[in-house]
Amino acid sequence: MTTDIQKFLKKIEAENVKFIRLQFTDIQGLPKNVSIPAIQAEKALTDGIWFDGSSIEGFARIEESDMLLKPDLATYAVLPWRPGEGKVARFICDIQTYGNKPFEGDPRNVLRRTIAEAAKMGFTFNTGPELEFFLFRMIDGVPTTEFEDRGAYFDLAPTDAAEDVRRDVVLALSDMGFEIEASHHEVADSQHEIDFKYGDVLTTADRVITFKFAAKSIALQYGMHASFMAKPIAGINGSGMHTHGSLSKNGKNAFYDPNAELQLSDTAMYYIGGLLKHAKAITRVANPTINSYKRLVPGYEAPCYISWSAANRSALIRVPAARGNSTRAELRSPDPMCNPYLTFACMLAAGLDGVKNKIMPPDMTNSNIYHMDAKLRKKLRIDMLPGSLAESNAALLRDDVLCDTLGVHVVDNLSRIAEMETDAFRLTVHPWELDRYLATY
Ligand code: ADP
Ligand code: MG
Ligand code: MG
Ligand code: MG
Ligand code: MG
Repeated sequence: MTTDIQKFLKKIEAENVKFIRLQFTDIQGLPKNVSIPAIQAEKALTDGIWFDGSSIEGFARIEESDMLLKPDLATYAVLPWRPGEGKVARFICDIQTYGNKPFEGDPRNVLRRTIAEAAKMGFTFNTGPELEFFLFRMIDGVPTTEFEDRGAYFDLAPTDAAEDVRRDVVLALSDMGFEIEASHHEVADSQHEIDFKYGDVLTTADRVITFKFAAKSIALQYGMHASFMAKPIAGINGSGMHTHGSLSKNGKNAFYDPNAELQLSDTAMYYIGGLLKHAKAITRVANPTINSYKRLVPGYEAPCYISWSAANRSALIRVPAARGNSTRAELRSPDPMCNPYLTFACMLAAGLDGVKNKIMPPDMTNSNIYHMDAKLRKKLRIDMLPGSLAESNAALLRDDVLCDTLGVHVVDNLSRIAEMETDAFRLTVHPWELDRYLATY
């Protein structure tokens, strides 16, 4: 037993932790966990815990289903919303197969591999995701799309229970080591955003999962449902997960160059060029459901064209005005239904491809693209993001760089899921179709 493990065993005892959750995520980014009593901690931390991966979406086939959960010691946290008596702590785990081989279908492992590629080039990747979500009313234990409050953007008055939920989420995340930068009411009724400080990409991907888990658990205690669905209600803003990204080298922000045009370094420009080049394929993971594509439409501050800008929020990539250590590029397409490990891995791989191959982005688009006609967009060579899951999946399959990044196992499973979802959607006759056609035809 290493001294590190001993340290954690002491901590678990001192903090009176009774249960330990070993957490990981499936290919769709849904958190899974196995709970063990604290007396099993020594075994779990030393050897890991075997589990049956065949029932986890996108994991093993039946014939090779045994998987080993290996807790990452750095991710230890007590779950603050659980009772003070008999405390619950969690570790986020890496997944291995026989012979301690990292499992190629583990999203966290996909991200780790990509981080190692970046490290070879001397880079670390920092991300700052902004998660938006709705708080909906639960009726008889079932989530509805009924609002809990009718506040508006940046409203101050703490008028309702939704405000209490947001406060409790902020407090819980702070207890778990998040540095909360801002929390506010969003544009739509009952929609909220909580921003936390950026950090290294693996930590922030873990935090996205923790964030959703905390928000859902705390909302439930108030009889509410925290929904991270991209577009739960037609006609009003959906929920995004804009992701700010920057590369650093030798501890310094590699996007900042005080002497360059716009004070953006070549590395920053190539990163943006790479993201734009691979934008269509990234969409498959950043916008992973049928519903995701109902958010990527004009008019609600969500992007639908492949462009970049220093100012306007209709662009896919925006470069905020801050410079120095805060120099960064914001990718505005991801939504909070995405698997953060896979999404960040694809962003990083696309950016690194830009740097390796010196991919210069086209000129910035500083006017509002929603207001351009198709001819002008064509002249400016502004292409569109995929309009559906089927389209983005096809784009991924055409993108060798991102297929290599995700690996065969993950790509095969993403394709299978995209086909299954598309077929299921097609097999349904939707109310819109009846409204539109039934009386006329
Ligand atoms: P917006 O104007 O889009 O709302 P914010 O100003 O709220 O964006 O910033 C959002 C995120 O950007 C935060 O999570 C913040 O920590 C992050 N951020 C700041 N500096 C960097 C950086 N150098 N690299 C990556 N993310 C950063
Ligand atoms: Mg924000
Ligand atoms: Mg902001
Ligand atoms: Mg927002
Ligand atoms: Mg933003």
